[in-house]
Amino acid sequence: MTLSEAQQLIERMYSAKDRKRGAAGTFLWLMEEIGELAAAIGEGQAHSEKEAEFADVLAWLVTLANVEGVDLTRAMEKYRNGCPGCAEMVCRCDEKK
Ligand SMILES: [Mg+2]
Ligand SMILES: [Zn+2]
Repeated sequence: MTLSEAQQLIERMYSAKDRKRGAAGTFLWLMEEIGELAAAIGEGQAHSEKEAEFADVLAWLVTLANVEGVDLTRAMEKYRNGCPGCAEMVCRCDEKK
């Protein structure tokens, strides 16, 4: 699934509820899911549990992007040609300090 497909899928499933909730409420849900991911990793839960929590976090990040009208494929373009900090394909930001 591409980022664009994920945004379309989430749009189809949840957009009506998402718009009503707005960005602030959606952000809280995203933070809650990040907490669940932290627990899954920190508690050393099964790989399948970690996978499920990564999916939840990504779904809520995609939701927030949809609510804010952000195209994630376009947004990620800033990483296409290298690190946005140092412009190198293998980051050398530390070396340039
Ligand atoms: Mg979760
Ligand atoms: Zn860098």
